[in-house]
Amino acid sequence: MVSLIPFNLQYHVEVKRNNKYEWLMFVLTVLVFALHGLLFHWLPGYFRSKRDPEGVKYQKFFKFLKIWDSWTNCIGIKVPFKKNIVYFQPSLVLLALFHSAVLGVFCIVQTVDLDYQPRQYIICKRMLKVAVGNLPMIMILLMKHDLVTAISGLQHDRLVFVHKWLSRSMWVLITTHFLLAIKYWLDLNFPIMLVIPPQIFGLISYVSFVFLTWASNKWIRKWSYEFFLIQHRVFGFIMLFLAFIHNPGNRAAVLISVHLLVFDRVLLKVLGAVHRRMSPTKGLCDFEILDNDTLLVTIPVKKTKFAKKTWYTTILPKFSTWDAGQHVYLNVGKISFFQYHPFTISNLEEDGEIKLVVRKQKGFTKKLYNKLIKMKQEEMNKEHNISIEESPSHKNKLQLKAQFIGPFGAKHQPFLGFDRCLFIGAGSGGSFTFPVALKLVQDIKQRDEANDFLFRPANQFVHLVWIIRNKENEQWFQHMIEPLYDFIQEGRIKLTIYITQEEPEITQERGNNEKTRIFKESVDSIEFQTSVYSKERFAIERHYGRPDISNLINSHANVLSDSVNTKSLSVCSCGPELLTNRIKVECQKSRWVKDAPDIYCYSESF
Ligand SMILES: Cc1cc2nc3c(=O)[nH]c(=O)nc-3n(C[C@H](O)[C@H](O)[C@H](O)COP(=O)(O)OP(=O)(O)OC[C@H]3O[C@@H](n4cnc5c(N)ncnc54)[C@H](O)[C@@H]3O)c2cc1C
Repeated sequence: MVSLIPFNLQYHVEVKRNNKYEWLMFVLTVLVFALHGLLFHWLPGYFRSKRDPEGVKYQKFFKFLKIWDSWTNCIGIKVPFKKNIVYFQPSLVLLALFHSAVLGVFCIVQTVDLDYQPRQYIICKRMLKVAVGNLPMIMILLMKHDLVTAISGLQHDRLVFVHKWLSRSMWVLITTHFLLAIKYWLDLNFPIMLVIPPQIFGLISYVSFVFLTWASNKWIRKWSYEFFLIQHRVFGFIMLFLAFIHNPGNRAAVLISVHLLVFDRVLLKVLGAVHRRMSPTKGLCDFEILDNDTLLVTIPVKKTKFAKKTWYTTILPKFSTWDAGQHVYLNVGKISFFQYHPFTISNLEEDGEIKLVVRKQKGFTKKLYNKLIKMKQEEMNKEHNISIEESPSHKNKLQLKAQFIGPFGAKHQPFLGFDRCLFIGAGSGGSFTFPVALKLVQDIKQRDEANDFLFRPANQFVHLVWIIRNKENEQWFQHMIEPLYDFIQEGRIKLTIYITQEEPEITQERGNNEKTRIFKESVDSIEFQTSVYSKERFAIERHYGRPDISNLINSHANVLSDSVNTKSLSVCSCGPELLTNRIKVECQKSRWVKDAPDIYCYSESF
């Protein structure tokens, strides 16, 4: 077939089309994110916030969500020789196939009538453009600000997953482009074209991209996150810079991506520096050693009149204030000048200071912990010439300069409209669940006292479950457990602590089953209360053993089973992925029980 496009115009038509598909790729990804946000974050949030006191309205929409969730939920598989169940989300495979199909179509569509060069080479050039079309989104997903999270309703870890998927599909396209280009010039017997400067730059850019893509594997991040970050930044810079020179057609995408990221980082650094300057202690923070591998970091924050939460702070950065459950990136210059690590703010803004519970890992956190031990030992030596272990006051606070950037995250649905809210936190995951649950019961109390039952249930039940290894770990969140006492006493919240690696001390046994023996202890002087709302008895409950997640979720879902009105249950969890995935699976099972409530499942894992 002879092309209808005149030979002398074909190059220009090709460039135009390639640019079109490059930007279409970007626009399509933006639309997918926006659509996800609209359907699964904004609309459900809006509909839930307009509920009747008896139950949720817009039931057809929630039925659609239920069906959607069954298609997209994760499933657990027992793999031979693996101790734990492996969870995976089959719908992600479908999504990956769909995305690959779109990439494939964009690479070949409207290339047939371009015959001024072999078709293989025309497709080879298109591939590069379609691949580069992914670049702005790959970079946008690296932004720390909440722009994408707020629009799409996707959490930080999901965005990291999409970042990796887009990068890897870009790598496949660029590798194919690279091989086809070599073949083209060798077939023409023109090898000199492979060693001209732009091609050499392209080659170096490609090699950097290989490292960028494959040296970010889980085992490398686990081995040394610091090494991963440094090499990722260095190769990222080389790759972008040389891609910019290799092909002038890539410049717009590269420039936009780099500028967005630079703007994000500069704004963060400026806000971080302002926070530090305005802080009452000029950045001096308290570091408390809680136990063998846990620290409590307290960062004073100056209250300002900018500390207002309005609609635009959903997307734009907040200053001097934060939402319950948000996290900040902490930097301690004396430990590592360039490293910023995410930690969830474990208290509420009214405290006027940020409290972070930091668990010791193998990199920055270990160095920080060891530095504090050393400082403490030096102090001991100076004062009494005794060791830390001998010191009765080894929990004293130490001070170091630190700064933070943020807050970010916690883009969940408002919990105020649910009949029951179940929070499950494991270990330092309590940093997320404690403040969110406390804020919720505060809001409920405030509304109850104002007799304000508009768009919310008349009787709301909050259950906070915390899973820890040892009873001693309870001290990590003493600053959050204490403010909960009043609410526990009033029967507004129930706190259950599961201690998994310890036997109880002197206490009375209530059950027969060895694994799930239940013990109750009264909290200070508080007696067991019977809630005026649900007639359930309240206290801090301590269970020795692991919680039965299925039973826990089912018990709440069953109470809300109603054949006339659709009630609602939220299950919010934070902990290791194994736990949060298990919770997702159990929520899904409970959704399909007859007369089940609308179940909203939100999880964060770190
Ligand atoms: C949103 C979020 C909130 C978190 N909140 C808390 C919290 O409240 N308390 C707490 O103890 N931990 C929290 N973490 C985990 C904490 O960030 C890591 O444990 C810490 O960064 C480990 O630093 P390291 O150099 O000692 O780790 P390494 O021993 O080098 O690595 C341990 C693990 O931490 C991850 N990690 C390391 N550095 C980073 C980083 N800069 N960004 C993301 N992940 C990293 C790595 O993937 C690795 O698997 C949170 C993580 C995230 C993503």
